[in-house]
Amino acid sequence: MISCQSLFKTFNQLEVLKGIDLELAEGEVVVIIGPSGSGKSTFLRCLNFLEAAGSGTISINGQAVGTKEGSLNKLRQDIGMVFQQFNLFPHMTVMGNIIEAPVLLKKMTKDQALQKGMQLLKKVGLAEKAEEYPNRLSGGQKQRVAIARALAMEPKLMLFDEPTSALDPELVGEVLGVMKQLAKEGMTMVVVTHEMGFAREVADRVIFMDEGRIIEQGSPNDIFENPKQERTKEFLGLL
Ligand code: ATP
Ligand code: MG
Repeated sequence: MISCQSLFKTFNQLEVLKGIDLELAEGEVVVIIGPSGSGKSTFLRCLNFLEAAGSGTISINGQAVGTKEGSLNKLRQDIGMVFQQFNLFPHMTVMGNIIEAPVLLKKMTKDQALQKGMQLLKKVGLAEKAEEYPNRLSGGQKQRVAIARALAMEPKLMLFDEPTSALDPELVGEVLGVMKQLAKEGMTMVVVTHEMGFAREVADRVIFMDEGRIIEQGSPNDIFENPKQERTKEFLGLL
């Protein structure tokens, strides 16, 4: 459904992505692992066009994506993103956060958005928090709201950038649980995470990135039990 060929990205003199190729099938769950600074976040941001790639092509359903703002906006609406730091709007209630984009971008009427918002809050187990403000939620609750907010736009693809890294350990499970459920329902997902348990259990494919390149990819079993590359073994502490 989404693919990219030879993605390169440079910040000033620093080459951060050095030719990334990815072919993502509908319903596939891909987990990206790799050391700090290897370009994982930059890659996700390029996929979502939050960051313009230096060169390379990104195609959706076989159609190369142009850079006209109109088509980019449409595209961004089809891709949901969840960040490490939640990024909820602090001055809006939970429900306000969820209905903002669908109503503003006229994807739904306010009534439709409220109805959908309540369904999503039930799905992430937070129906009773609809009128609460974000600063009165735990980290895990904030992140579940952020997931519901992304889903409110009915995206075709969900990108997660270390969604549990800012959470106390006992709150990680509730967020991973929501993500597992989403995967089970067939959502196409790309997840950057250090949660190897999640990767083993949920990923169809694991990608190991280092220094702006995909070093190795395969099933969780391939990568975690039988990595071929020395760098992968080293990263996983198998050497
Ligand atoms: P982490 O695991 O720490 O989140 P990462 O794999 O997500 O790391 P990126 O955030 O993609 O890595 O960063 C890759 C490299 O690009 C780093 O060296 C970083 O300093 C640099 N970089 C990222 N964003 C920018 C920017 N906006 N301007 C300049 N350099 C940047
Ligand atoms: Mg990152």
